[in-house]
Amino acid sequence: MFYYMPTKLFCEKNCIANHKADLASFGKKAYIVTGFNSSKKNGSLDDVINTLKSIGSEYLVFDKIEENPSVELIMNAASYGKDFAPDYVIGIGGGSPLDASKAIALMLANTDRDKDLLFDTETSYNKALPVVCVPTTCGTGSEVTPYSILTLHDKKTKSSIPHHIFPELALLDSTYLSYAGSQLLINTAVDALGHFIESYINAKQTFISRLFCEKGLSMWQSVKSILTKENKSHEDYDTLLLVSSYAGMAISHTGTSLPHGMSYSLTYDYGVPHGKAVGTFLASYIDNSDDTNKKEVLSLLGYDNASMLHADLMNLIGNVEVPKDVYDSYVKNMMANERKLKSCPFAATKETVQNIYAQSLITVID
Ligand code: NAP
Ligand code: FE
Repeated sequence: MFYYMPTKLFCEKNCIANHKADLASFGKKAYIVTGFNSSKKNGSLDDVINTLKSIGSEYLVFDKIEENPSVELIMNAASYGKDFAPDYVIGIGGGSPLDASKAIALMLANTDRDKDLLFDTETSYNKALPVVCVPTTCGTGSEVTPYSILTLHDKKTKSSIPHHIFPELALLDSTYLSYAGSQLLINTAVDALGHFIESYINAKQTFISRLFCEKGLSMWQSVKSILTKENKSHEDYDTLLLVSSYAGMAISHTGTSLPHGMSYSLTYDYGVPHGKAVGTFLASYIDNSDDTNKKEVLSLLGYDNASMLHADLMNLIGNVEVPKDVYDSYVKNMMANERKLKSCPFAATKETVQNIYAQSLITVID
């Protein structure tokens, strides 16, 4: 049995201003890492900047984090922040800026090292700078996970870096979610659902990871009704944001499994948003698992069978269509992803993986 979740988390209105003393404890110089637009529109960037000003902190902003950040982007952001010599890094946005902030914090603590350090835990290196996360989507839970998933252009896919970098502080204010379009909320909430399902049906599941999953899976029907509602209340946004963090706490202990592993090629090759790519494979993952897990997960989610879940998910996220000739290479890539295969508690044979692709993707012949 192992439990470690060292991130201090607050969820409330005006969360950033309320916790200025926590921010001040990390030092006098903050490097803010965010995406191109959303944090300017939803007020999160201003809230961070105004709070830093109120405590007399210096700051520098890097606002060019792309979706699914690449190794090259991390190195550019680290090089932009190097002369500023920050004490800590604040990531603001969806999972992309949050994941990027962890990798950038590692590189800024090791300014004499090149990009190879991102995938090297063998040689000696300095611990990453402290990371603070302000999530503005409701899916990745990156604000409480030690993971940073980067795009690897040389391998034409995505992968988690092997360093485990837990944020020190997560500041959650669901006001920012109210600026997100309904499809972004849906896609990211389906990512959180994937985290619960893949953490529940996981070789590394523990008593505590299951507690988060049991609660989270049993909330799916009410999350779904929030997602399909026209006018959402502040409490609704709080629910979406907190569910995402609970799912992050679950995968902090177990990691994810086949659906996440299988999603990366869809995102790399076809630009399918992360949550939608993951959601494509969830029902089939459950259906191919052992009877006990299958029964328990479906019952917690409120479905009689996996087809009902798949139909609901397709209504929410839409089908993904790919040419049939990619299947072989996708199966081959998945069978080479040892980490994800290991986390699957049932026999993830080539046939099983083929089956999941065939059941999940709509084939389109070119
Ligand atoms: P994202 O890639 O961070 O952002 C998607 C889009 O949403 C961007 O265009 C962004 O705009 C916009 N956006 C963000 N917040 C918004 C808001 N409040 N209102 C309106 N638009 C908003 O999306 P994500 O799904 O949250 O993150 C996906 C990434 O997280 C993937 O790389 C995935 O692999 C990773 N991930 C990490 C973990 C983990 O444990 N660390 C787990 C699952 C997934 P801007 O670019 O303008 O900001
Ligand atoms: Fe995810």
